[in-house]
Amino acid sequence: MSAKASKKKLTLARPKRTSDDKKLEKFAKLFAKNVRTVPNFPKEGIMFKDITTVLKNKKLFTETVEMLAKLYKGKKVDKVVSIESRGFIFGAALAYKLGAGFVPVRKPNKLPAAKIRETYSLEYGTDALEIHLDAIKKGERIVLHDDLLATGGTAGAACKLIEKIGGRVVGLCFLIELGFLNGRTKLEGYDVHSLMKA
Ligand code: AMP
Repeated sequence: MSAKASKKKLTLARPKRTSDDKKLEKFAKLFAKNVRTVPNFPKEGIMFKDITTVLKNKKLFTETVEMLAKLYKGKKVDKVVSIESRGFIFGAALAYKLGAGFVPVRKPNKLPAAKIRETYSLEYGTDALEIHLDAIKKGERIVLHDDLLATGGTAGAACKLIEKIGGRVVGLCFLIELGFLNGRTKLEGYDVHSLMKA
């Protein structure tokens, strides 16, 4: 095969970008431009991804909800589960947009009724999350949302809570993914999306 012919073949083999893909790429660029990175917060060495700069922008706020909702079009989502506290902001808006219920996963001792707890490892020590026992019915289709995916420990623990009370995790979505921390390896087997990678 000539070089010209093989080049042509490679071009043809490339998956076609849909208008939705293009829109998402354009949006991701705008989103990334508006996230503020604050060095050494809340402690030395952490590059904190601050989304308040996205939230205050009315066009970007709306577009972010729309982009998240697009991921689950036709997926029959019963509930969106989000993690305290930044996950609640877009999680609740996404639930509204999908016509789904909203379930908060909270830090220990914040939820008032009967609940279960999942403990997970951090770089130093452990942390825990809780969910109400009656938050999800057996077999309900759940989307988990949080603002950011780092090591994946938090989202992994939230998935365990959802599954322990009978939910089926149909997808996980994050605004930001810190790719270098390989959080996805802890979430293998799940359908994971992030709007931007850092
Ligand atoms: P992880 O369990 O390591 O995936 O951490 C994810 C959780 O920690 C999310 O709930 C985030 O809100 C928070 N988080 C971790 N790293 C950052 C960061 N660099 N900037 C903002 N939030 C972060």
